[in-house]
Amino acid sequence: MSYHASDSRYDSMPYARVGRSGLKLPRLSLGWWYNFGGVDTFENSRAIARYAFDHGITHFDLANNYGPPPGSAEETLGKLLKQDFASYRDELVISTKAGWGMWPGPYGDFGSRKYLIASLDRSLKRMGLDYVDIFYHHRPDPETPLEETMGALDYIVRSGRALYVGISSYSPEQTRAAAQILRALGTPLLIHQPPYNMFRREIERGLLQVLEQESIGCIVFSPLAQGLLTDRYLQGIPPDARASRTERVWLTKEDVERSLPKVKQLNEIARQRGQTLAQMALAWVLRLPQVTSALVGASRVSQLEENLGALNNLEFSTDELRAIDAVLSE
Ligand code: NDP
Repeated sequence: MSYHASDSRYDSMPYARVGRSGLKLPRLSLGWWYNFGGVDTFENSRAIARYAFDHGITHFDLANNYGPPPGSAEETLGKLLKQDFASYRDELVISTKAGWGMWPGPYGDFGSRKYLIASLDRSLKRMGLDYVDIFYHHRPDPETPLEETMGALDYIVRSGRALYVGISSYSPEQTRAAAQILRALGTPLLIHQPPYNMFRREIERGLLQVLEQESIGCIVFSPLAQGLLTDRYLQGIPPDARASRTERVWLTKEDVERSLPKVKQLNEIARQRGQTLAQMALAWVLRLPQVTSALVGASRVSQLEENLGALNNLEFSTDELRAIDAVLSE
C-alpha cells in the first residue's frame, strides 16, 4: 500500500534546538540498532518507521554495522526511502556512524581517515542517499590521533557527504579536545551521543557540563536500558524479548534478574505518576535541559505508541526525583 504521511504529524511532537546550531530534533528519535535488520520482518520495520514519522519522529539514527547482518539496517532504510519516504527526504534527519568493526583487516575499524570515509561511502550506497544529515564517529580510538579523526569529519562535511558531525561515547576530556579541533577547522561539533538511563548515569559526572560549555547537543541512547526500564520483564523473560537473544547479546538474562527488584519499585513510582515505567524512564532522561533528544528503540508499533505518551508529562516533583534516586542508590 502506498504511503501518505499523516497530515497531523507535526501537531504534538516538541522539537529542541541542537546546541547553538540551526538544527532541531524531536524530543524522541528512533534508533535502528535492532529491529530493522535483514533478519527482521520488513513489514514490521516499515510499520514502526511509518508510525514514527506520522507522529513527528523526524530523526532516524543508524550506523554502518546495524543489522544483523551488519549494513542491513541501512539497506532497509534505503528500501523505505524509495518506497515510502521518497517525497519526505527533506523532512527527515538521517544519521549514520562508523567506529566499530565493519570489515576485516586494519582499515575497517576505529577512527582512521581511511576507514571513516570509505565506510560512509558504503553507507550512502546502501541507503541510496547523496548525503546524511549527521555523521558520527562511533567510539573513541585510542591509537589514531584525534586530529586525524576530526580532520576526516571536517572533510566529510566539506565534501558534501554529511551536513553535520557528531561523536559517540567520548569522555568529557576527549569531547572538549574534539570540539576544539573541529572549531579550528571551521566545522562545529554538533552533537554527542552517549548512553544515559536510570541505571547508567556517567554523563552526569562531567560530560553534561562540557556539552553545555561548548554548546554541543546531546542525544542519549538506550534510555530504557534496552527494555529493562519497561514492563517487558516484570512477569519473566519473554522468548521474543531482547534478553532472550542468542546472537548479538548486549543484554543478558543476568542483567534482567539483577535489576528486577529496582525495576519493580520504579514501576510503582511510575504508576503513582500515572505513567508506565517506559514513559517515566523517558521523561526522566528528558528532564535535563542539556538532553536534546532521547533515542528510543522499539520492536513493535505498540511500544512506540506507549513511548510517545511520555511526552504528555515531562515534569517531576522534587519528591519524585528523590524517590527514584533512593531506589537507584540502594
Ligand atoms: P532502548 O533503551 O529504548 O531499548 C529499546 C528496546 O526496549 C526495544 O527494542 C524493546 O525491546 C524494548 N522496549 C521499547 N519500548 C518498550 C515499551 N514501551 N514496552 C516494553 N518494551 C519496550 O534503546 P536501544 O538500546 O534500542 O537503543 C536505542 C538507539 O540508540 C539504538 O537503536 C541506536 O540508534 C542508539 N544506540 C547507540 C549506541 C552508540 O554506541 N552510539 C549504542 C546503543 C544504541 P524488545 O526487543 O525486548 O521488545
